[in-house]
Amino acid sequence: MLTGGPSYTESVNRGPFLTDVAVVGGGAVGWAVAWRCAARGLRVTVHDPAPGSGASHVAAGMLAPVAEAYFGERELTGLLAASAARWPAFAAELAEAAGTGIGYRTDGTLVVGLTGDDLAEARRLWSYQRELGLPIDPLRPSELREREPALTPRVRGGAVAPGDHQVDPRRLVAALRTAAERAGATLVARPVARLSDLDARVTVVAAGCGAAALTGLPVRPVKGQILRLRAPGGGPPGLRHVIRGYADGEPVYLVPRDGGEVVVGATVEERADTEVTAGAVLRLLRAAVDLVPELAEYDLVEATAGLRPGTPDNAPVIGPLPGRPGVVAATGHHRHGIVLTPITADLVADLVVTGEADPLLAPFTPARFAATARAAHCG
Ligand SMILES: Cc1cc2nc3c(=O)[nH]c(=O)nc-3n(C[C@H](O)[C@H](O)[C@H](O)COP(=O)(O)OP(=O)(O)OC[C@H]3O[C@@H](n4cnc5c(N)ncnc54)[C@H](O)[C@@H]3O)c2cc1C
Repeated sequence: MLTGGPSYTESVNRGPFLTDVAVVGGGAVGWAVAWRCAARGLRVTVHDPAPGSGASHVAAGMLAPVAEAYFGERELTGLLAASAARWPAFAAELAEAAGTGIGYRTDGTLVVGLTGDDLAEARRLWSYQRELGLPIDPLRPSELREREPALTPRVRGGAVAPGDHQVDPRRLVAALRTAAERAGATLVARPVARLSDLDARVTVVAAGCGAAALTGLPVRPVKGQILRLRAPGGGPPGLRHVIRGYADGEPVYLVPRDGGEVVVGATVEERADTEVTAGAVLRLLRAAVDLVPELAEYDLVEATAGLRPGTPDNAPVIGPLPGRPGVVAATGHHRHGIVLTPITADLVADLVVTGEADPLLAPFTPARFAATARAAHCG
């Protein structure tokens, strides 16, 4: 039953319990919640048979509240911006707590169009983003190439989003786990079959695509294929900015990392398998090389696929689960789980400690899907 149970506040006053907080899922979201809760002195367990192996492992790591501001998603855009604003302090605090870097870079993002049609499509979106007051400024082709000489001279135009940054998600998850464990959180390396098996004052479901089976929430897998290239000779990549854009109608992004890696992504497919297909690799590589020709000389070191936890309105599901005493959802982050990691972790930790959901979470509450979840649970 999803309705009619005690309220969240009533339920957390039950007890005694084996632990204060059980976090189901050890991806970026789960470990960040665990870290923030453990740092507040709570006893925390993280339950995951394969921590760090989900969407967070394949993600590109763009922190792009501006370039990812799409039509019809104003509330989500607000949350992305609020989380991105927390990133500088979050990254610094995490590096300190874990004693390791996370590849956080603030070089900014260039949005480009290869052909006239590509530019028209990109311009339509950035005009909307400018209408929202977001920082994105058009650039001429010569200005683009001044900033990023590796771009093809064929690029017809673009824009710069100076506040859209990036982080390395694999280093992020490793650092979050270290920080959480240093703060006292412990891993239970087993899958959770039923939430009722957990003996915790509060259970936080941060299981990505696994959340649907545990909660009945409408979280569905959205497949993304993604590549990792490496600059020849182990040198740094020949580009500095994140580059996003269209190349002959093909959307693509390039994320250069300090160690010489360039991430090329990603497909968006309504599928639940993680096979890598020749067609997807071909399309991604062609678009990447069309925008930055020197990438043809790079080594192709990884081709992989992951499953984004998507929701019907593309927004995350964060907050108390109606009718499930002491259960909090922190899932459904779809394309934005990395950028949304700081705000999710902070607001979930606040909720766990105070019993009150921050007003920022109002549009993202699981209650908006209560009817769907109830039907799934009864069915
Ligand atoms: C190709 C691709 C590119 C992306 N690029 C970006 C990007 O640039 N920027 C961005 O912000 N986001 C990006 N994303 C989205 C981002 O990866 C996700 O939103 C984010 O990783 C979700 O994190 P999570 O911790 O909720 O889930 P996950 O990382 O999927 O972790 C969930 C964990 O839960 C565990 N689990 C599941 N079921 C159970 C169970 N029953 N019991 C115990 N454990 C369980 C799994 O083993 C897994 O470790 C991208 C995603 C993809 C696929």
